[in-house]
Amino acid sequence: MSQNEFDVLIIGAGISGAALFYELARYTDIKNIALIEKYNAPATLNSKGTSNSQTIHCGDIETNYTFEKAKKVKRTADMIIKYGKLQNAENKFMFSHQKMALAVGDSECEYMKTRYEEFKELYPYIKFFDKTKIKEIEPRVALDENFSNDRPENIAGMGIEAGEVFTTVDYGKMSESLVEQGQKQGKNTLVAFNQEVNFIEKKDGGFYIRTTDYKEYHAKALVVNAGAHSLFLAHKLGVGLDKCCWPVAGSFYLTKQKLLNGKVYMVQNPKLPFAALHGDPDLLADMNTRFGPTALVLPKLERYHGLKSMPEFFSTLKIDRLFMKIAFDIMKDSMVRNYLLYNYLYEIPIFNRYLFVKNAKKIVPSLKPSDIYYADGFGGVRPQVIDRTKGEIMLGEASITDVEGVIFNMTPSPGATSCLGNAERDCKIVCKYLGQKFDEDKFTSELL
Ligand SMILES: Cc1cc2nc3c(=O)[nH]c(=O)nc-3n(C[C@H](O)[C@H](O)[C@H](O)COP(=O)(O)OP(=O)(O)OC[C@H]3O[C@@H](n4cnc5c(N)ncnc54)[C@H](O)[C@@H]3O)c2cc1C
Repeated sequence: MSQNEFDVLIIGAGISGAALFYELARYTDIKNIALIEKYNAPATLNSKGTSNSQTIHCGDIETNYTFEKAKKVKRTADMIIKYGKLQNAENKFMFSHQKMALAVGDSECEYMKTRYEEFKELYPYIKFFDKTKIKEIEPRVALDENFSNDRPENIAGMGIEAGEVFTTVDYGKMSESLVEQGQKQGKNTLVAFNQEVNFIEKKDGGFYIRTTDYKEYHAKALVVNAGAHSLFLAHKLGVGLDKCCWPVAGSFYLTKQKLLNGKVYMVQNPKLPFAALHGDPDLLADMNTRFGPTALVLPKLERYHGLKSMPEFFSTLKIDRLFMKIAFDIMKDSMVRNYLLYNYLYEIPIFNRYLFVKNAKKIVPSLKPSDIYYADGFGGVRPQVIDRTKGEIMLGEASITDVEGVIFNMTPSPGATSCLGNAERDCKIVCKYLGQKFDEDKFTSELL
């Protein structure tokens, strides 16, 4: 095989690409594997620690997950913990914090009690917290606006105290670890940074890949884990044309001191497609509380790189009559419309803090605008995919496998938690396509 020929080439070194690179190198007999990334390091976009909420979404406190979805994410969440333990990552990139789903008011408390009864079978460690317990472990949640008496509403929660299970990961550091470990498995690997792929062609029974600076690669199989750009590249190859991408950015607010002892997630409004506001201790901000994320439709595929990805946004959105109808149908619901419009206001300096606090007070009643500041440079983009045939937002991940030998993945939340499970799925597809072996026993003994 020549220098630029590979069995498998992965585009994108976020947590999804890094996890696949590691699993291909460790659990398959595939020998030549390349990972191509357009920026100068792994995980500088959505997988970076400051871009997401650093949560291992295992489904116990995520009230937007059904029992079935919780069961599915729990399997992949457990894999994150297994990998972390294998790498001795405890208190390096994997942490154990207190966490809870919080119910405010009688009807939410009733709902929480029912949910607890249903979910405790799946999460035997989970505890039900009454107001007294919440006051003990998370006093700012239980006390009123003046931080003196109990807040007037009934509150309840389900969760765990610190030290019981792993809850938090710096997915940026974990991506670095996966890339490093992938390179140590005795395979012929290439990890190339500062190389932006802008051309893919199916050629001679494989794939021809070219970058913006005219580097050329050939691969028998290709996996595109390029975030919102995956669909952009799929469209260039003429696949996934029944889908378009509507990226929704998320911003955060940081507190000037540690207000919460652990993660506090609010009960989800079932009408809204994005996770309800939550507060998390931030690993990269001295464990001060980070509130968010907001939900902001921005005309670009990635944040913090100016307007560079704006043309790609419009190309991937495919604005036509069908799209306009889908957008109209989504925005027809006044709750969704108001929610999205309100989220724009969270970006307006000074004014934003007052508005945001109004919402976050449901978690910490004594929170004041002067306690928080807009977390500049934090947050990322959720590549929300719209199925143009069905006319609806595809909640969760989307993969395009229309052409044999190539997979395009789009992974909004909880994509970081699901990275090892998604990589397992793709490893098996690639092995089958190439006639190679996936070492099920080794995989099971290490990650399941
Ligand atoms: C606000 C917010 C909060 C979130 N919170 C959580 C959470 O708490 N827990 C959780 O599990 N998930 C969370 N998520 C989701 C999670 O961050 C993502 O699902 C995950 O990071 C996606 O990883 P990825 O590798 O697929 O994509 P990315 O991290 O976006 O990586 C894609 C990579 O592809 C590269 N790339 C793009 N185009 C090209 C090209 N043409 N050539 C070469 N390289 C290219 C990019 O530079 C990038 O490095 C959150 C997301 C957001 C936005």
